[in-house]
Amino acid sequence: MSQTSFEIQQAAVIGAGTMGRGIVMCLANAGVSVQWVDNNPQMLEQALTTVAETYAHNVRQGRIDQAEADARMARVSAAADYASIRNVDLVIEAVYENLELKQKIFRELNGLLKPEALLASNTSALDIDAIAAATRRPEQVLGLHFFSPAHIMKLLEIVRGAQTSPAALEAALSLGKRMGKVSVVSGNCHGFIGNRMLHPYVLEARKMLLEGAYPQQVDTALQGFGFAMGPFRMYDVVGIDLEWRARELAGKGQDAPEVQVDNRLCEMGRFGQKSGNGYYHYEPGSRQAEHDPEVDALVLRVSEELGFQRRDIGPEEILERCLLALVNEGAKILQEGIAGSAHDIHLVYLNGYGFPADKGGPMAWADRQGLADIHQRLLALETRQGDQWKPARLIGELAAQGKGFADR
Ligand code: NAD
Repeated sequence: MSQTSFEIQQAAVIGAGTMGRGIVMCLANAGVSVQWVDNNPQMLEQALTTVAETYAHNVRQGRIDQAEADARMARVSAAADYASIRNVDLVIEAVYENLELKQKIFRELNGLLKPEALLASNTSALDIDAIAAATRRPEQVLGLHFFSPAHIMKLLEIVRGAQTSPAALEAALSLGKRMGKVSVVSGNCHGFIGNRMLHPYVLEARKMLLEGAYPQQVDTALQGFGFAMGPFRMYDVVGIDLEWRARELAGKGQDAPEVQVDNRLCEMGRFGQKSGNGYYHYEPGSRQAEHDPEVDALVLRVSEELGFQRRDIGPEEILERCLLALVNEGAKILQEGIAGSAHDIHLVYLNGYGFPADKGGPMAWADRQGLADIHQRLLALETRQGDQWKPARLIGELAAQGKGFADR
């Protein structure tokens, strides 16, 4: 198939929620016409209004003129059903994070779309190959993982499935460029590059709450290092309830000690910024995170109920555990070929996760410490806290050769 047949002129977006709205604007701003589907007509209507309001706001701020706003808006239209999007070159699905639901949609679209059309999912973590398996065109299926808010955040993870064709990848990279994104190709694994590394980092932060720390202490230490936001402020922005609901839906993970504080916050309706309370308190209309002693009391209660003997945890330990968890997982991602280079991880963490730019990305930070030193520190944690700290094979190998991640 020739490369030009993959030039994306017309797209469709399925889902008019938080992500769908941003993705539609990315496409329309890049000159791509978009048809928009949601099985909830009210949601779609609301979403169209939000997009129009965003463009009007951009005009008021002088970012674009009225003619440009009109042209962008004219590229967006509501579609009544899947049949009416049969001629598009690309579909980006952004419905709830549920594998069966996504598979059902991909199966249906496969039967309707022209053979050369690409099918992409905005899933944050699900298996792209399992989604592709619902179609008869797995070579044209990939992940397009946008970050929230999608029309503002620069990062785009392009997830390559086992059968994704080079032409499909090329088309996605070229679309990423047209949308002004920093595109990074990731292999297919749970969470891809960014969220897979985030998982052990956040796990350490949550464990430290049970062992003796408080949310603000953890956030202050990591913000002191230079992160735009500590993990608990980040969860308040993203919504603590997203993972809570996903655990509920999947029917697993809800009993783990580390998520008990999250569970209790969600049961109290404290979902984060959007509900005015989460790990922090927010005054109406404000995004200013304010320390909430009630949350500290809750953390204390939960850890005591779980039988933890609390102890003082200083900023050094917070940084050591969170950063080494990030680096060790990053090393595994490199050794498995999920990320092509330490630089790709750097792009993901800088543009998607607020890692401090002056540290040059998590792997460059580790290189500056020296991998022999990182290796020793991981071994020390392994001795104290167990297997989860076992250093990635790649760290030992590079350290033995006196090399860093950048030398690979
Ligand atoms: P959301 O709940 O805000 O929106 C989901 C939308 O999908 C709703 O409008 C719903 O009506 C619609 N929908 C549900 N079933 C449908 C169907 N069968 N057909 C058509 N429309 C349907 O969700 P979101 O936060 O926008 O997340 C969407 C996807 O993007 C998820 O896979 C999520 O993991 C991923 N994601 C989310 C974020 C984030 O920060 N919210 C970031 C990156 C990726």
